[in-house]
Amino acid sequence: LIPPTQPAGLSNVIRKKLMGYVGFANLPNQVHRKSVRKGFQFTAMVVGESGLGKSTLINTLFNTPLYPQKEPLPPAADRPKTVAIESIGADIEENGVRLHLTVVDTPGFGDFVNNDDSWKPIVENIESRFDSYLEQENRVNRTKIVDNRVHACLYFIQPTGHSLKQLDIEFMRRLHTKVNLIPIIAKADTMTDEEILEFKHRILSDIEHHNIHIFQAPTYDNEDEETIAEAEEIASKIPFAVVGSDKLVDTPDGRQVRGREYPWGVVEVDNEDHCDFVKLRQMLVRTYMEELREYTNDFLYENWRTEKLLSMGVAQDSSVFKEINPAARLQEERILHEAKLAKMEAEMKMVFQQKVQEKEAKLKQSEEELYARHKEMKDALEKQRADLEDKKRKIESGRPLTPEKSSTTRKKGFLQRT
Ligand code: GDP
Repeated sequence: LIPPTQPAGLSNVIRKKLMGYVGFANLPNQVHRKSVRKGFQFTAMVVGESGLGKSTLINTLFNTPLYPQKEPLPPAADRPKTVAIESIGADIEENGVRLHLTVVDTPGFGDFVNNDDSWKPIVENIESRFDSYLEQENRVNRTKIVDNRVHACLYFIQPTGHSLKQLDIEFMRRLHTKVNLIPIIAKADTMTDEEILEFKHRILSDIEHHNIHIFQAPTYDNEDEETIAEAEEIASKIPFAVVGSDKLVDTPDGRQVRGREYPWGVVEVDNEDHCDFVKLRQMLVRTYMEELREYTNDFLYENWRTEKLLSMGVAQDSSVFKEINPAARLQEERILHEAKLAKMEAEMKMVFQQKVQEKEAKLKQSEEELYARHKEMKDALEKQRADLEDKKRKIESGRPLTPEKSSTTRKKGFLQRT
């Protein structure tokens, strides 16, 4: 019997011990095999003023020259006046696992005299990716959905040591509900450890003051202590102070490392005592890539989708209701589809009416022209008839024709009469 407090539809769960082999313990392996076969898609966006080391860091993170060598920037007057959006795609593979990686770059961000609207094209780009996903979900056949949504946005903060700039705050405020924000202090090798700590502290209090939500590694109740400790360790490093370099350098103790060489020593990219690069990689790739994808789908996209549908007049219940009630989902899709059809119909009607109006105007014009020509001809004929009548009357009354008339006409008239 279902206890009265239990929601209808859920049966009572009884814990049972198995008597022997069943086989479902292999389920995680099945999932693993399937996802390895299908491969993964991940889209990361990088935002920050030019020269902050964005392309170098992406090359360092994925250990491959994704970004070709950059051309030096043209003089300010010749540069485009708006933020551009550029994507680079690459299929990379590690131990048989394939990853289709897309990096979305935003050249021009923060590079102008007036950067007030620098965030706009970026928000539009993120939303158009949501739009494209929603459109695919609403197709009749939705088995092959391509997920182009941005799963993480690495925001590069200039290593000034002060606090966040107005541009940084404005960007994060506009974007934090649409994308997983990961703030990064660029070129951390230009600051001392103490300066970095102080700077991190200021950045975090600015972020808190403006109620900006940045991505945090999630922890779940049933997780082991080690995983929770790892998540806490990563969280304690935000904003990540990173150093990028895709070049190998020799350390004084004879090792070859990825790093940057200075007269006083080598800054090692992969050394946790030197910078937070390893922790960033853990957050973005090694431990939480799937969480970033999931959070994008379950919260960021879902919220955006709800707002969008509501603004289109589709009443929507909670996502839980939708999940357990396919009829509600179908109904919602039907309404969305109908709204789309109605919009198309209205557009077609408008085009049709416009065409009809143009045709009518043309017809009216040629009618008026015809009428004018007709009137002209009629007047000319009328005049001719009046002349002839006049002539006839004169001939009949036997009066000689006026001197200006030709002699042949006169003769003809005489002959006709005899
Ligand atoms: P982007 O315009 O933001 O993509 O910047 P780039 O990756 O092209 O880097 C601009 C310059 O900064 C290059 O000369 C890089 O070698 C240098 N650079 C990149 N990362 C770092 C870093 O972590 N520290 C320092 N000091 N320089 C860096």
